[in-house]
Amino acid sequence: MNDQELAKVKSVVRNIPDFPVPGIQFKDLTTAFKDPEALEIMAKALIDIYGDKGVTKVVGVEARGFIGGAILANRLGAGFVPLRKPGKLPAEVIQKSYAKEYGTDTLEIHKDAITPDDVVVIHDDLLATGGTMLAAYELVKSMNPKKVYVNFICDLADLHGREVFPPEVEVTSLFTF
Ligand code: AMP
Repeated sequence: MNDQELAKVKSVVRNIPDFPVPGIQFKDLTTAFKDPEALEIMAKALIDIYGDKGVTKVVGVEARGFIGGAILANRLGAGFVPLRKPGKLPAEVIQKSYAKEYGTDTLEIHKDAITPDDVVVIHDDLLATGGTMLAAYELVKSMNPKKVYVNFICDLADLHGREVFPPEVEVTSLFTF
C-alpha cells in the first residue's frame, strides 16, 4: 500500500458534523467514491492486501459496503454477496440480530451464498464501534467457510472498534481517522 496515495484518498473524504445526530462526525465517503483517482487508489490498495489470499467471495455490508465490496470482488475474480437489512433478500436467509446504541438491528444473508469451500472477505466502508461488523462476522462464520477476513476503507481509532473482534480475526483498514 502506498501511504501517500492513501493520504490523498483520506483528504477527499468529507466530514459532516452532527450527522445524523448531534455529536457525530460523519465521514462521508461519497466524495472519495466520486473521485476517479481516489477510487482507483482504493481498489489497488484492496488488491494489494487480498490479491494473494485465494479469496472466492466478498461480502458487502448494506449499503455503503456494496461499493468497495463489489469493486474488490470483481478485481479479485471473486463473487459478490450482499449482507442486507431484514426483508430485502428474496430467497431463504439466515439472520443475526445485534445490539445498537438504541434497540437492536438485524442483518440477513442468503442461506446458499457461502459454502465451506469459500475464502471470504467481509467489507464495509467504515469501522466505528464494530457492532455491525462483529454481527456480520459471526453470521458469515456460522456458514463455516474456510477463512473469513474483515476489511474497511477506514476506521475511527478513538472508538476502538478493532477490540470487539476475537484476536484470530485479521482486520484491515486502508486509513484511520
Ligand atoms: P459500527 O457498528 O458502530 O461500527 O458502525 C458501522 C456502520 O455505521 C458502518 O456501516 C458505517 O458506514 C456507519 N457509521 C458509523 N459511524 C459513522 C461515522 N462517524 N461516519 C460514517 N459512517 C459511520
